[in-house]
Amino acid sequence: MHIQNFINGNFQNPLSNDWIPNYNPSSGDVYGQIPNSSKEDVDAAYEAANLAFNRWSQTTLEERSRILLKISELIESNLDRLAKAESKDNGKPLWLAKAIDIPRASSNFRFFANAITQFASESHESIGQNAINYTLRQPLGVVGCISPWNLPLYLFTWKIAPAIAAGNCVIAKPSEVTPMTAYLLAEICNEAGLPKGVLNIVHGLGTTTGQAIVEHSEIKAISFTGGTSTGVHIARTAAPMFKKLSLELGGKNPNIIFADCDYEDMLTTTVRSSFANQGQICLCGSRIFIEASLYEKFKIDFIARVTQLKVGHPSDTETKVGALVSKQHLEKVMSYIDIAKEEGGIVLTGGNKVKVKGYENGYYLEPTIIEVTTDECRVNQEEIFGPVVTIMPFTLEDQVLDMANKVKYGLSATLWTNDLKRTMRLSHKLQAGIVWVNTWLMRDLRTPFGGVKNSGVGREGGFEALRFFTEPKNVCIKY
Ligand code: NDP
Repeated sequence: MHIQNFINGNFQNPLSNDWIPNYNPSSGDVYGQIPNSSKEDVDAAYEAANLAFNRWSQTTLEERSRILLKISELIESNLDRLAKAESKDNGKPLWLAKAIDIPRASSNFRFFANAITQFASESHESIGQNAINYTLRQPLGVVGCISPWNLPLYLFTWKIAPAIAAGNCVIAKPSEVTPMTAYLLAEICNEAGLPKGVLNIVHGLGTTTGQAIVEHSEIKAISFTGGTSTGVHIARTAAPMFKKLSLELGGKNPNIIFADCDYEDMLTTTVRSSFANQGQICLCGSRIFIEASLYEKFKIDFIARVTQLKVGHPSDTETKVGALVSKQHLEKVMSYIDIAKEEGGIVLTGGNKVKVKGYENGYYLEPTIIEVTTDECRVNQEEIFGPVVTIMPFTLEDQVLDMANKVKYGLSATLWTNDLKRTMRLSHKLQAGIVWVNTWLMRDLRTPFGGVKNSGVGREGGFEALRFFTEPKNVCIKY
C-alpha cells in the first residue's frame, strides 16, 4: 500500500515520486511505501496552508469547535480501524492502542473544541490615566507540527488540535516510522468538513521533510516532540528566524519508592510505569530508587511480576509487551544492556531478544531489570527508551533527591509515600515538569505538560497550548 501526502484537502504522491519502505515491527516485513517528501512538497503544503489561513482564522469559534468535535467523533467511530493500523505500524499491543492511543486522540480534539470556546484574554484598566488596555490573542499563521513514533496519533493530534482550534493552518509531519494513522486522520478531516488547506500532512524523513518544515522562512512556529539531540538541532535552525518553539524532548525519569507507600498499588503501577508501550513512553520511570528497608522485598516481587509479562504479537490479547518500533531501535536498546554489563550492572531478569512463534523476524525484547550500584553509570544517565529499567537502594531523602536530580533531563518524576510533609518537600525540590505522587501517567488535559532542563522548552496542554499557538497583542485606548 502507498500512503500519500495530504495537501489542500487532496491526497497526492510526492513530487519526486520517491518512496520509503514502511516496516511492520511485529514481523519485520515491509508492508507499505510512504512518500519521501522534498522541500518542494513542503512548499506546496505551505501555499495551501497560507491560502486557507485568512478564511480559517476568521471562522467563528462555534464553527471551529463544531468541526473539531466532528473529527473527535469520527476518530471514535473508527476506533477499531485506527487501533489496528497503529498497532501494526508501531508494534504496540492492539488492546493498548484501543484503550489508550486512539481514545486519547479523540479526546485531544474534543478537549480543544471545548477549550477554545473558553479561552479568554486579559484587560487592564489604567486607573487615573483614562485608558484601558486589552490583549488580543491572534493566531500565528502557518505553523509546523512534528511528532515522534512512540504514541503516533496521540501526540500528532495533541499538537494539531490546539493549533487549528486557535485559528492557525498546519503543516504536520508524523514520524516516518509510524505514518499510517496520520494518513487515516486526513481522510477523517475531509469527512468532518475541515476546510481545504487548514491541515496539510507531509510524510518523509526527519532530516529532509522535517528539516524543510523547520527551515521554511514563512512558517511561524514549530511544535516538536522527539529526542533531545533533534530538539537541539531544531532550535539551532529555527532561532535565527525567530520562530516560536515548543520542544517536548527526552526524559530519564526517577521513580522514588519510600517504605511507607501503599505497597500493592506501588508494585502494580511500577510494572506499568516501567514497561507500558515497551517502555517507549517519554514519561516511563526508568530509574527506580527504593528505600533500603524495602529493597530486598521489592526486588523479589518486582522480578516475579515482570517475568510474568507476556512478550508477544501485538494482536494477541494476552500480550503485555509487544514489538519495539524498529530494528535500529531494538539494536540501540540492546546496546545499552551490553553497556550495563560492562559497567558492572547485574541483569536481574530479561536482556534477551525474543522469537515469537510465526513472527521470528519481529523486534521483540524481554522486559529487563538491571541492578546498579551507582546512579552515575550510563544506563542510569542516558535515555534508553525501551523495556529496560534500573533499580538501586537509597537510605536518606536528601541522597535520593540528589540522585533523582543529577541527570541532564527533567521531564517527570514519580514519588511513592504516604508522608505529606515529605511529599511537599520533594515535589518542590524535584527538577521535573511533572511530579506524580502515588500514581503515574494520570493526565488531566487542562494541566501544563512539559519538561525542564534538557527535556524541553515550553508547555503543552490546556490554555498553555492555546497561548503557544497565538500571539498576544496589546491595544491601549485612551478615553
Ligand atoms: P526523533 O527526534 O528522532 O524524531 C521526532 C520527529 O522529528 C520525527 O517525526 C522525526 O522524523 C523528526 N525529525 C528528525 N530529525 C529532524 C530534523 N532535522 N528536523 C525536523 N524534524 C526532524 O525522536 P523519535 O521519533 O526517535 O522519538 C523518541 C524521542 O521522543 C525520545 O527521546 C522521547 O523521549 C521523545 N519523546 C518526548 C515526549 C515529550 O512529551 N517530552 C513524548 C514522546 C517522546 P523521522 O522519524 O521521520 O526521522
